[in-house]
Amino acid sequence: GSGAHVAALVIGTGYGGSVAALRLAQAGVDVHMIEMGKAWDTPGADGKIFCNTREPDYRSYWLRTRTKAPLNYFLGFPIDRDIPRHTGVLDAEEFAGITVYQGRGVGGGSLVNGGMAVTPKRENFPAVLPSVDPAEMYGVYYPRANAGLGVATVDPAWFETTACYQYARVGRKHAQRSGFPFVFVPDVYDWDYMEQEAAGSVPQSALAGEILYGNNYGKKSLQKTYLARAAATGRVTISPLHRVTSVAPAGGSYTVTIEQIDTTGAVVTTKTVTADRVFFAAGSVGTSKLLVKLKATGVLPALNGEVGKGWGDNGNVMCGRANHLWDPTGKLQSAIPCCGIDNWTAGGAFAEVAPLPTGIETYASFYLSITDNPNRARFSWNASAGRVELSWQTAWKQPSIDMAKSIFDKINAKEGTIYRTDLFGVYKIWGDHLTYHPLGGAVLNKATDNYGRLTAYPGLYVIDGALIPGNTTVNPFVTITALAERNIEHIIAADL
Ligand code: FAD
Repeated sequence: GSGAHVAALVIGTGYGGSVAALRLAQAGVDVHMIEMGKAWDTPGADGKIFCNTREPDYRSYWLRTRTKAPLNYFLGFPIDRDIPRHTGVLDAEEFAGITVYQGRGVGGGSLVNGGMAVTPKRENFPAVLPSVDPAEMYGVYYPRANAGLGVATVDPAWFETTACYQYARVGRKHAQRSGFPFVFVPDVYDWDYMEQEAAGSVPQSALAGEILYGNNYGKKSLQKTYLARAAATGRVTISPLHRVTSVAPAGGSYTVTIEQIDTTGAVVTTKTVTADRVFFAAGSVGTSKLLVKLKATGVLPALNGEVGKGWGDNGNVMCGRANHLWDPTGKLQSAIPCCGIDNWTAGGAFAEVAPLPTGIETYASFYLSITDNPNRARFSWNASAGRVELSWQTAWKQPSIDMAKSIFDKINAKEGTIYRTDLFGVYKIWGDHLTYHPLGGAVLNKATDNYGRLTAYPGLYVIDGALIPGNTTVNPFVTITALAERNIEHIIAADL
């Protein structure tokens, strides 16, 4: 309730926030987590908590009246549709030059993501987090994160025979025929459950095309891993549909202002609590927006000048290829990707072979590439508009397109195929308008010290993707989790 005092307040319930909550609670600290999205623990009228990708309804998008699907066209026709405005699970947050997709709800991005759980190659790590000792990460914190998240890889024998990975096998064949290294990619999906889905013995989730708008069964989201363990300590409470708007110094502790919202997004009431420690875990965008606003409006004026800087898109770019009729990708496609092309070292991309779970044969191979895009944007406060803006420009994706082309031009030449031009608009090849992987804005050892402390304000910490300077060379959440494990261990030992 309003006026309460808490030892530790965590803003956001994604990867960074969940790690912080669990480890603080295990150390005997009472933790209150504030989450702007819903709890996602109650089924709708159809008996399901989340809606299907093929039938987006009120549960799909965060406060929109029309869907904004990442692939917004098919065969040249727009596929977006009207929906009731609701605090749905996927936010398509629009900045001037890029749409940033993020999860909203208890579990953050783990609710909506593909679950691809990738540890960067050790040789690439110095570029990912230059101030962090690789030996401690690869010796202790990556293994701890992988164990805590429940990471595993598809059974290779099952992969070879199941209809639902026909699309991945076609992707592999084409990659290998052009000489590109092909890798299995670990995931937090329960692979035994997926095999039972294929056998028809359990309700389908990955095999029903569930992705983007939540996953009803097989994915081990944070609600099933870190947050379940945090709840079991008895020291963690979560307030969903509560949004932090301010964190202000108050004589050694902090006054946190929180708006409670209803499912239309309307503010129901505004509360304040005081907290000895506040952990910013609102995601790269959420944390950056809060810190930039609080610095610019004089609430936290001593935050340093690095706040808001160093934001990157993890080099995300998407494309599709049109296969020949003798290379069908299958009308049954697991919505959980399990493999990709690892051409990073050669300057190309880490490209996942992604599903197009439309339920019909598309003869398309679809890829999400992660590339070494060097561009970095910054968040700034627009005082007259009263909002935080991001300086990213759409043209800054060109290096990513060029890197992805170095792979897919070669595959197309070898296979005698062409790019699909009907997935992102009318005659548009590249999905260069979005990212799923926002990173940075409060970079480790720049905006914070080397453990995420906002040193001008003792007791304030950043512990999420905002710490990572724009690129992880692979999908980011294992690195976000491992870094949070490293930082919270140090903070508990040194500060508590
Ligand atoms: P988040 O997980 O974003 O959590 C932040 C939380 O804070 C959210 O729940 C948000 O609602 C809440 N919040 C924000 N502002 C406030 C506020 N002011 N008050 C209260 N609460 C607030 N990564 C991978 O590694 N593998 C994948 O396969 C993968 N696939 C993806 C697919 C999609 C469609 C998307 C959108 C992302 C994907 N990602 C993937 C990215 C991954 O989900 C993110 O990198 C990760 O969730 C970021 O973790 P985080 O802890 O920084 O923040």
